[in-house]
Amino acid sequence: MKRVYAKEEVCIGCRLCEVYCRTEHSKSKNIIKAHKKETPRPVARVLVEELRPVSFAVQCRHCDEPECVESCITGALTKDESGAVVYNVDKCVGCWTCVLVCPHGAPQRDLERRKIAKCDLCPDRETPACVDFCPNGALIYEER
Ligand code: SF4
Ligand code: SF4
Repeated sequence: MKRVYAKEEVCIGCRLCEVYCRTEHSKSKNIIKAHKKETPRPVARVLVEELRPVSFAVQCRHCDEPECVESCITGALTKDESGAVVYNVDKCVGCWTCVLVCPHGAPQRDLERRKIAKCDLCPDRETPACVDFCPNGALIYEER
């Protein structure tokens, strides 16, 4: 399956991937409304880690043997036939077990909703928003 991969050597830590991920997962899908008006605030599914001069974007790797799926107490995280790890928000009880076990720090805590937020590969788009809008090509979406 295709996954999002980070290219640390060209990431400048601008965090636009977070901005466009948040926008894509907002109600309005409008960058201004998403960041200034919506409540609860949309949560980015990608997080830029930075220790200058190194930075790179972290999001769900859709692992082959996902520890989050193994450990989710409610079955909110499952692996579909394509290999993607999918998240059912209605089943999530906000226990943060997946946050603790994920070796990549991928699930983000949405404290307002008491749910997690995790990369869904932007099902309404051909290419995930973080990849499309990174100005430096520091995220790529491909099969390896
Ligand atoms: S949330 Fe973490 S453990 Fe689960 S599939 Fe994504 S990267 Fe793997
Ligand atoms: S926080 Fe939600 S998705 Fe994560 S393990 Fe708990 S119930 Fe499952």
